[in-house]
Amino acid sequence: MKFSYKILLCSIMIMAAAFGIGGYFFVNYVFETSMDREIRQAMDESSILQFAFETAALNIPSKYALLQDSTIEEIGLNLENSGEGRLLRISDENRVTLYASDGFVEGTEFLSGIGAQTRVYQVIPFGGHYYVQTGTMLNVMDRILYLETMKDVTEVFAERSQGFSVYRRLTLVMLISSSVAMLFISFWLTRPIRLLTQATRKMTEGDYGYRAEQISQDEMGQLTSDFNRMAEALEENIHKLEHEVRAREDFIAAFSHELKTPLTAIIGYADLLRSRRLDEEKRFLSANYIYTEGKRLETMSLRLLDIIVTKRYELEAQPFGVETLFDYLRDMYAGKEEIRLVFDFQEGRVRAEADLIKTVLLNLVDNACKASDPGSVVEVHGERTERGDHYLFAVKDYGTGIPEEECRKITEAFYMVDKSRSRSRNGAGLGLALCVEILKLHGSELKIESTLGEGSCFSFLLPCEEVKDREQKTDH
Ligand code: ADP
Repeated sequence: MKFSYKILLCSIMIMAAAFGIGGYFFVNYVFETSMDREIRQAMDESSILQFAFETAALNIPSKYALLQDSTIEEIGLNLENSGEGRLLRISDENRVTLYASDGFVEGTEFLSGIGAQTRVYQVIPFGGHYYVQTGTMLNVMDRILYLETMKDVTEVFAERSQGFSVYRRLTLVMLISSSVAMLFISFWLTRPIRLLTQATRKMTEGDYGYRAEQISQDEMGQLTSDFNRMAEALEENIHKLEHEVRAREDFIAAFSHELKTPLTAIIGYADLLRSRRLDEEKRFLSANYIYTEGKRLETMSLRLLDIIVTKRYELEAQPFGVETLFDYLRDMYAGKEEIRLVFDFQEGRVRAEADLIKTVLLNLVDNACKASDPGSVVEVHGERTERGDHYLFAVKDYGTGIPEEECRKITEAFYMVDKSRSRSRNGAGLGLALCVEILKLHGSELKIESTLGEGSCFSFLLPCEEVKDREQKTDH
């Protein structure tokens, strides 16, 4: 059953119970108040009649020592006629009726409950009517008499039944109208739930961008906004996962492609060597192809291993002076004459893992050299940032440069701008991917600025400690 119907059903039940019980008590209260009034009037009338009877009896000439039955009958008739619709009965001490109005109830059991100085009453149904019957004991001229009256209260009972029937109809009307109102209210109250359900369905169908409309600021509104926030996080994660899956597929495709080229060459030249008798020069060339392609495969597998290891690596950052890095690079390129390396750096102490940063710088300088013509300059620059909390490393070349649209892609594994040029220089498009992973470990990132035909600048920041200034500038 729908939630709104449940709310509706519960409210109808509560309203029906409230109206029913409330109405019953109200009508009954009115009835009891009326009955009390009628009983009071009946008792008053009883005492008036008692007084009238005693007065009448006293006014009778006392020629008899005892009050005669005929006198009592006469007084009774007079008393009955003195009031409209008055019903009374007078009985003697043996409960023998001496006078009774027409239509007075039969039976005198009621009199047994009457004692001296007491007045009793009972409500009785009789002949399709309801009466308040009162009874009292009289002691007139040494005679014990019982005076009873009957007062018709049928109207009070009729009013009660009428009250019940009016209230039943009123309850029905109120229930119907309040049910209609409740139906709208419950639909209105459950609208946020319906909107949330709709959003959940849409998202299940794959529409992750769908959001539930927030139509209130109450708890339901809060729930909707929390749901939307959760949906946003979910969508982001799904996009991330999708991107990762795509990147992995691209990686596998690029990897197999990169494997295929050297393997085809290796297999082809190996087949040539084993199936033909080649002269010395061709034999050397074939063996050389196999060697260089094998070397490329080796470099590639080592780089891949490095990337995988770096991704799972737990960094052990230590503070160290940046000059160790620049000294290392200077030593590495000490014998290479074709490119002129210029080092220009400020002193500083960075917090990083030195070997990993050496790998990054080596890759960047290597790429810069590969992109530059012989005799060109490659600048390796280092300086503290203005705030002094970071150290900037930059490798700048004046070589081929990179087309703008390629700048974003070159850090992807196996991506090479000029494939044949890179392959001929033993490249596999993995160096920058490794640099990015290492810098990610250090909480840093690689910044690439390049102009096609003019050169490129690769830079990154590392956290640094305060030191006294001392500038160095050396040419290699
Ligand atoms: P590779 O092993 O091919 O050098 P990298 O990931 O280091 O792989 O570089 C990816 C590609 O980015 C290179 O193939 C090259 O095309 C381009 N590239 C990298 N550095 C530079 C640079 N300084 N100038 C021009 N192109 C560069």
